Amino acid sequence: MKILITAGPTREYIDDVRFLSNGSSGKMGYSIADECLKKGHAVKLISGPVQLSAPEGVDLVRVVSAEEMFAAVKENLRWCEVLVMCAAVADFKPADGVAGKIKKSSMPLDLKLQPNPDILKGISDQKEDRVFVGFAAESGDPVDSARIKLSEKNLDMIVANDVSRPDAGFEVDTNKIVIIDNKGLVKDLPVMSKRDAAVEIVDWIDSCRD
Ligand code: C5P
Repeated sequence: MKILITAGPTREYIDDVRFLSNGSSGKMGYSIADECLKKGHAVKLISGPVQLSAPEGVDLVRVVSAEEMFAAVKENLRWCEVLVMCAAVADFKPADGVAGKIKKSSMPLDLKLQPNPDILKGISDQKEDRVFVGFAAESGDPVDSARIKLSEKNLDMIVANDVSRPDAGFEVDTNKIVIIDNKGLVKDLPVMSKRDAAVEIVDWIDSCRD
């Protein structure tokens, strides 16, 4: 299958040197890309700024901001049969970009933010028969909020995780995921490496096209 994966954080620049972002390492998305390649799928990886090298054989598209990621997803959507939105897209961006470097003397700074577009919602009318997979990073039991996102974002499956756990979430090598799909599956998996979590996620992708 042709699988489009997004990974990592996005950066929203406040001035030429400072940005808003989050602690996503990209490890989960890159592990999914790697596992998809191992299973013989064709992979395009749209990645925010991360410290990882792309698995050999992947078609890598680098982006920085949420708007750039949105444009790259729209440009590559027609190509794919499966979209895995693993990226931790920044929710907000500065309302006014400032050229140069803001001087410390201009503190306190009145920083106005505006919401970024929701990529999944923005492309849901182009879904057709594609399989859409999303992620829900929550603090506390993630299942209820993930179910709401599954339906609101028109997804076939969502991977929920509790990012307040020390063994799950953004910067660690392990994850504790629950796979929830639109056919009623709720698969609550134990703590495992992100590599093993990727195997579970790609097994689900493979099974839905059987
Ligand atoms: O609403 P929330 O950010 O928790 O949803 C997470 C899911 O939505 C992830 O799959 C993420 O990649 C995607 N997302 C998106 N556009 C945004 C924010 C999140 O597609 N602006």
